[in-house]
Amino acid sequence: QQKAVIIGAGVAGIATAVRLAAKGYAVEVFEANSYPGGKLAQFEQSGYRFDAGPSLFTMPQYVDELFRLAGKDPRQYFNYRKLDVVCNYFYEDGTQLQAWADTEKFTQEIANKTGEPARAVIKHLANSRDIYDITNHVFLERPLHRLQTYLRWDTLRSVFRLPQIDSMRTMHKANASSFQDERVIQFFDRYATYNGSDPYQAPATLNVIPHLEHHFGAWFPQGGMYSITQSLVKLAEEVGVKFNYNSPIDEVVVINGIAKGVRAKGTNIESDIVISNMDIWFTYKKLLTKHLAWHPQKTLNQERSSSALIFYWGIKKQFPQLDLHNIFFSADYKAEFDHIWQRQNIYYDPTVYLNISSKLKPDDAPTGCENWFVMINVPANNGQDWEQLISTARNNIINKLSRLLGEDINSLIESESILDPRSIESRTSSYKGSIYGTSSNNRFAAFLRHSNASSKVKGLYFCGGSVHPGGGIPLCLLSAKIVSELV
Ligand code: FAD
Repeated sequence: QQKAVIIGAGVAGIATAVRLAAKGYAVEVFEANSYPGGKLAQFEQSGYRFDAGPSLFTMPQYVDELFRLAGKDPRQYFNYRKLDVVCNYFYEDGTQLQAWADTEKFTQEIANKTGEPARAVIKHLANSRDIYDITNHVFLERPLHRLQTYLRWDTLRSVFRLPQIDSMRTMHKANASSFQDERVIQFFDRYATYNGSDPYQAPATLNVIPHLEHHFGAWFPQGGMYSITQSLVKLAEEVGVKFNYNSPIDEVVVINGIAKGVRAKGTNIESDIVISNMDIWFTYKKLLTKHLAWHPQKTLNQERSSSALIFYWGIKKQFPQLDLHNIFFSADYKAEFDHIWQRQNIYYDPTVYLNISSKLKPDDAPTGCENWFVMINVPANNGQDWEQLISTARNNIINKLSRLLGEDINSLIESESILDPRSIESRTSSYKGSIYGTSSNNRFAAFLRHSNASSKVKGLYFCGGSVHPGGGIPLCLLSAKIVSELV
């Protein structure tokens, strides 16, 4: 039996483990932390449970696929429900929007609250679907760096339609030409942040993202986001994968251009193939230090995605006007992104994302209370004075939420933890604390992302958010699929 070693138990590492085990490999996963999941982790805090990282679950079919592949019924392991209201939006001018999953209700809500005609939104969503139909075969489901990908009929057809994906203008420009109302433009610009990018720089191709949310839907895992990790680890163990925790890998062992295994705590572990789920930057900079000539410096130097600053607050009150996902928009979106991308700091009026899993999973908070996951987009870690930035941002966020909710939020916070770019970097070895690998601000970003197989080392593969096809749970799961097909 051939052996596969996987470095890292992030969601892509676990999914790759399941796929390779299903192919007949003996799979062993080495994880530096004492727990699986990487960014998809959870923790307890004074009677509250928090999902540490991702909170929006889209494309659940990619998780189900892993169970079916192993001949199991996903519903015996993992359940989720579709959200009727994807997200609540609050604007500084007092407008409140509910983004209904149902297209008719959604377009009607936008028309009623902003005056933007329903037909403009319908046209925009149809364009979003077209971009998805063209790009999904080429950019998401296949290795971009293999000739065979381009010899397939469906890929060729997509390549001919590439001019339609609107890559020559920015997302903001496209949205500003689709809509009259500033609030609707801001609503659709926000989707650039789903992969840590800037709508004022990223190509309008990213207008594909609303299609994922509005067509495929937004979902809530019944056991919270962490149940994705838990159920996949259970599945992996059942198909024979062995997990080693507290086991950081120090080196990929390469002999004559072939990956022969890994090295941990001074011991060699032999393997026929090695898959790194570690951020690609650190895979080269920490695990392949003896092979500097092979480092693809241009690829590694790609701009990183934005990072996040999160306050996990135990709140001793319930807010009926809030839902699972809530957004409190900045009054000046352009200024906010200029601060993140050009000035590399935090605007005084940031857009605040508030996730409350206890809305749908009441045991995540004590009775009468709510678990608030309060997040803003911030630049990647370039050595800024984070203590100063965090303390200022904390006051600004509390003031904004207090103003828009008509309640003194500070007096309701009974427990707090903070995650910032430095801790994201140290906990999951993500370079600069970026949450989605490289940014998509560049129109060629998809082609410049690192491939899923090494061109220098035979038997060395890469999965996860920092390589093709990119960050976010669904794309990480697709990277696992591509790796298992390449193997
Ligand atoms: P990671 O989760 O980065 O895990 C990599 C693992 O490798 C870690 O466990 C690490 O400890 C381990 N490792 C690293 N180096 C070594 C080594 N040398 N030896 C052994 N182990 C090692 N996505 C969504 O889809 N929806 C969202 O709403 C969303 N929100 C997010 C919010 C936040 C705050 C963050 C941080 C991320 C969010 N994401 C979201 C992105 C999503 O979490 C990631 O894209 C995805 O979880 C990344 O998975 P991964 O497999 O690439 O690896």
